[in-house]
Formats: sequence, structure tokens, C-alpha cells
Amino acid sequence: TKKGPAHIHDAIYEVISVLKHQFSLDNVEFETHLDPQVPTMHWDINKMKQVFMNLFMNARQAMNNRGGLIRVETECKDGFLTVRVSDNGCGIPPEHLPRIFDPFFTTKPTGVGTGLGLSVSYGIIVEHGGTISVESEPEKGTTFTITFPVTEGND
Ligand code: ADP
Ligand code: MG
Repeated sequence: TKKGPAHIHDAIYEVISVLKHQFSLDNVEFETHLDPQVPTMHWDINKMKQVFMNLFMNARQAMNNRGGLIRVETECKDGFLTVRVSDNGCGIPPEHLPRIFDPFFTTKPTGVGTGLGLSVSYGIIVEHGGTISVESEPEKGTTFTITFPVTEGND
């Protein structure tokens, strides 16, 4: 991997700026609450952009063309960085939750989803020493919570 000193907020802002015009045409808006205390850390920043791209595309697809809000929040506390990505889309049925990180698990039509986004994202997060979990309520929305230990020195 190509880890180097970088700021996770730069990855978040860059992916949002790439997507926001197209998303806003479908009334899907972004809201950010980024903690100014988050330090520069060691990231493979291109891979982290891929993680946010996957999460935001999934959130957008969960809106089923009805519009909605994607909320991105960071918090640095007690030696851990938490990143939350929430949407108010269709949600995930409880019986699917244990399978969404499996390679090739998809509920989307052939050609739309490969079912690889979350499994690849999971691998990238683990490579950074992090964890990802999900909470979801059908018809209400979904929140992905990603947590990393804060490592400001070299690793
Ligand atoms: P894909 O998007 O290609 O289907 P992913 O690995 O990105 O593959 O996601 C797997 C499945 O998890 C999706 O098909 C969908 O059923 C579910 N999913 C992921 N994110 C969301 C979300 N934000 N809202 C609702 N369902 C989701
Ligand atoms: Mg996906």
C-alpha cells in the first residue's frame, strides 16, 4: 500500500465535490460535520477516496430517485477517529445485514451492482487498522460507522 501523511477530510471533500453536482440533479444533497480536531494521519488516500465513493454511491442508489440527504460526520475522541456516513434511503432488511460485506452480495440488477463495493471498502478499512459497522432501519435509512485508531507518528 502507499500510505503517507494525509488528511481524511481532504478525501471526503474531494469525493463530495466530484459527485455533488450530479447528485443534486436528483435532489440528493450532502451535509458535512467534520471535527477540526482530526489530525493528519497515515492514509492510502486514493483507497480512502474509493471507500467514500462506494458509500456515497450506495447511499444515492438507496434513495430510489426520491431525493434525500447524505450526512458525513467525523469525530476525534479518546484516541479514535470515527467517520459516520448516514443516509435517509430505503434501508437494509435485517436478513441482509450479515451479508452486505460479502464479495458479490448485491440486491441490484445485473449491470448496476457488482456487489464488490462494500467488500473492497471493508478490506481497505482493515488495511488501515480500522473497523466498519452498519445500522439500518428499512424505510428510514442507514448509517455506516468507521473507526480508526489515531496514529499521528509513522507506522
Ligand atoms: P452493490 O452496490 O454493487 O450492490 P455493495 O457491496 O456496495 O454492492 O453493497 C451490497 C448491498 O448492500 C447492496 O446491493 C444493497 O443491497 C446494500 N446496501 C449497501 N449500502 C446501502 C445503503 N446505504 N442503503 C441501502 N442498502 C445498501
Ligand atoms: Mg455499491
